[in-house]
Amino acid sequence: MVRLTTLTEFNFRWPTLVPGEMLALTLLIAFAVFATLEFHAPREKLPKKYLRQSYKTNFCLFIVNSIAMSVVSASSLLIVAGRYSDKGLFNTLSNPTCKAVLSFLFLDLLMYLWHKASHRFDSLWMFHRVHHNDPYLNISTAFRVHFLELFIIFILKAISIIIFGIEEAIVLTSEAVMTFFIMFHHTNISFMGEKLLGHIIIVPSLHRTHHSTQRCEHDSNYGAVLSLWDRLFGTLSEVQPVAIGIKGSSPQDLVNLIKFGFTPPTPPTVQPLNLDDMIAEAAYYKAEKRGFYPGNDLQDWLEAKSEIIALVYGVDSTPKCNPSAHAASCNASAKNTAPFAPLPWAKRTGCSLVPGTLANGPQPSKHYWTQLNSTDSIQSHGLEIPW
Ligand SMILES: [Zn+2]
Repeated sequence: MVRLTTLTEFNFRWPTLVPGEMLALTLLIAFAVFATLEFHAPREKLPKKYLRQSYKTNFCLFIVNSIAMSVVSASSLLIVAGRYSDKGLFNTLSNPTCKAVLSFLFLDLLMYLWHKASHRFDSLWMFHRVHHNDPYLNISTAFRVHFLELFIIFILKAISIIIFGIEEAIVLTSEAVMTFFIMFHHTNISFMGEKLLGHIIIVPSLHRTHHSTQRCEHDSNYGAVLSLWDRLFGTLSEVQPVAIGIKGSSPQDLVNLIKFGFTPPTPPTVQPLNLDDMIAEAAYYKAEKRGFYPGNDLQDWLEAKSEIIALVYGVDSTPKCNPSAHAASCNASAKNTAPFAPLPWAKRTGCSLVPGTLANGPQPSKHYWTQLNSTDSIQSHGLEIPW
């Protein structure tokens, strides 16, 4: 029988108790368990033919990535940790448990920030959409990652290990814990208490939202392990998506998938009719903001047009006032037309905008809301609705 004194006499440092081989074996067992669960009790019944293709593509990509990344694999992170971890900021902490927890929290936050950036910037989304283009979310989707994304993550982690002085054992354990939870939240399962568990970690239902085809839904739930970061930074969404993957056709075979990861996303194309609607709505909004007081209709329309064009095409075509010739009319416009800012009373629920209450001024028309809620095509092009 183990006595308390035996435990206290023992030099307890939890991460070092778990050797790398043991962690690899644990992850392999976890993979087998999750795969069996999603096979026997799937959340979503997936067509066998496509599921087979998904597994095949994702494992081939995993093998290609492993070969490409063999130079900078997890063991390289351990070498970095072994060589530089004694000089980092966390070395000022004397308590090893405190140091381990803080290191893990930091690495998890780093993954959250990186993931958010991958969705925010087109150049990063080009790689990251390889992961998102699997239309049948399953445990193997966890391994559908572009190798350049893996490489950038490696660099970020290596820099963090040096700056914060994260020890080898903590790096190894964190990598294993993250891999475990990334496999877990991709698994096509649902279970009792999932919603409750989602208050602490990213569960499959939360990550499913992240794989929605709708941008307003997939720009959420970026966490790798903890859902804390999404709650803290307001990016958590519990909406159940209608469709998984990315909009439009994208390759599902290995070779074309790798090519796809190097093809910049096509620039947004907006139908002229759509654009006219947007300009009309923006002009209407401006008129509404000043209580439909007459005299600025043309100025409203010109400003709305330039703002919408700037938003859609990134071109600033704001009509410039000529102070000498039209000083009076410019001043009058500036006074009467409100800046085209987000409405204070609009809030987002899933993909819809819901009116709140307007403290002062006129209430928006029904027509206005009908138009707002039909702007999904604008979002699908990766553009934000300006109001
Ligand atoms: Zn993502």
